[in-house]
Amino acid sequence: MALVNCEECGSQVSDRAAACPKCGCPIGSKAEPEEHEPVEIEQTGKNYKLGMLVGGAVFLGGILFLAKSDNPAVGIALTGIGAVAYIVAKLGAWWDNG
Ligand SMILES: [Zn+2]
Repeated sequence: MALVNCEECGSQVSDRAAACPKCGCPIGSKAEPEEHEPVEIEQTGKNYKLGMLVGGAVFLGGILFLAKSDNPAVGIALTGIGAVAYIVAKLGAWWDNG
């Protein structure tokens, strides 16, 4: 017989006990981490950040293209696409947070 620390309240409990006598937390069965939801939220946030990053990069690329190229249509298209992608990602992040 050995003593284990209760995962819930930290008190010493016999590993033969079915549950912690103090808080009732099951002993022996490792509490399965249910952290799917926070991970998913973080993933979504990262996707929006990526969208803002890519959108911003395309926008800056379009401005550079406008400044250096004699074909302004491509630069205008790039800045437009970049700005839209950035705004969509920003709105998405705002929508999820609000
Ligand atoms: Zn306990």
